Amino acid sequence: MNVLVINCGSSSLKYQLLDMNSEKLLVKGLCERIGIDGFLKHSAPSKNYEANVPMPDHEAAVKVVMDALIDKDHGVLTSMSEIHAIGHRVVHGGERFSDSVVITDEVEQAIEDCCDIAPLHNPPNLIGIRACKKIMPGVPQVGVFDTAFHATMPEKAYLYAIPYELYEKYKIRKYGFHGTSHKYVSTLAAEMLGKPYDQAKVVTCHLGNGASVCAVDKGRSIDTSMGFTPLEGLAMGTRSGDIDPAVIPFVMQKEDMTAQQVLDVLNKKSGMMGISCVSSDFRDLATAAEQGNKRAEASLEVFCYRVAQYVGSYAASMNGLDAVVFTAGIGENDSYVREKVCSYLGFLGLEIDTEKNKQRGQAMDFSKPDAKVRALAIPTNEELVIARDTKMALKG
Ligand code: AMP
Repeated sequence: MNVLVINCGSSSLKYQLLDMNSEKLLVKGLCERIGIDGFLKHSAPSKNYEANVPMPDHEAAVKVVMDALIDKDHGVLTSMSEIHAIGHRVVHGGERFSDSVVITDEVEQAIEDCCDIAPLHNPPNLIGIRACKKIMPGVPQVGVFDTAFHATMPEKAYLYAIPYELYEKYKIRKYGFHGTSHKYVSTLAAEMLGKPYDQAKVVTCHLGNGASVCAVDKGRSIDTSMGFTPLEGLAMGTRSGDIDPAVIPFVMQKEDMTAQQVLDVLNKKSGMMGISCVSSDFRDLATAAEQGNKRAEASLEVFCYRVAQYVGSYAASMNGLDAVVFTAGIGENDSYVREKVCSYLGFLGLEIDTEKNKQRGQAMDFSKPDAKVRALAIPTNEELVIARDTKMALKG
């Protein structure tokens, strides 16, 4: 069974084709600059292919992907009929979706209804679904929601302390994101610990350009750092994470800005970029800090301090901790960040082997042999979770 995984952003479309009998990745790629001009990066096992291809809209981008998949030179299929299902990453499933679902007209409508609370993310996801439906009618499509893994959060974790009627009227509450990643790495962490998933207490740190921490207690997400939107929680590449909400009207007044403009600042010009004024990329920040740039150093300090604070608070939420897992671009690769975060957590029983921690991009336990709480790095694979869920949903 071949599953095409689609992750549609406002001007980009990432894809992977997986053979789900063997879980082998057949090909992956990226369409960029959709609606502007169009650029395709296609990585087949035999050949990498890159080209400027016009992509006036997402439908055109889906067509470009199809052509690339069946191309005689760099394709991996002989015809489109070899695509048996499509799995879509959908960012927000609201309270409606606690699992992945086959996309019907009703599901499509429910995803559309969630656009109100996820205006940046759900509309492009929906465009991708509609484009695939049009170009590959009859191929079953499944929606896999970033929020679904967190549907198990208890009320005490997801309720904001604001008037309850705002929750009732507008569903303002914590939802959480990166669910497929937290689910994938927590499952592998339990295996590495040699514990059944439903007995392990794990904190997973998805540290990429967007970043979130999740408390996975006995296989269930019981709390996570992102909230109503992906803006809450950790300081990130360009997002502020937690701030006092009173800052927003204060800046509006002082800088003569609208609420939307301030929100743009908090989403796109804050975080590591905002503090350092150097970059949102941790490699650039490390170089700048080494060269004596104090603000780059400060931004890294803020980042690690907040990650450690969340891990500590989630150890309390679970009343115990077996392992801390680091994943995504920073978590998998940045040994400085891992060491710094762990240095705050010795009181919990976390002790790392600094030599082992220097390795990157692989699954490893980098704790000292007798450390009570294990420190793990595990490469994430959100596309594999989406493909697995797609297969499962269709079987169901
Ligand atoms: P992601 O969103 O998971 O793709 O992560 C992207 C981020 O990971 C980049 O912006 C970098 O900050 C960080 N990153 C990627 N590779 C490395 C590396 N080798 N060392 C440190 N940070 C890295």
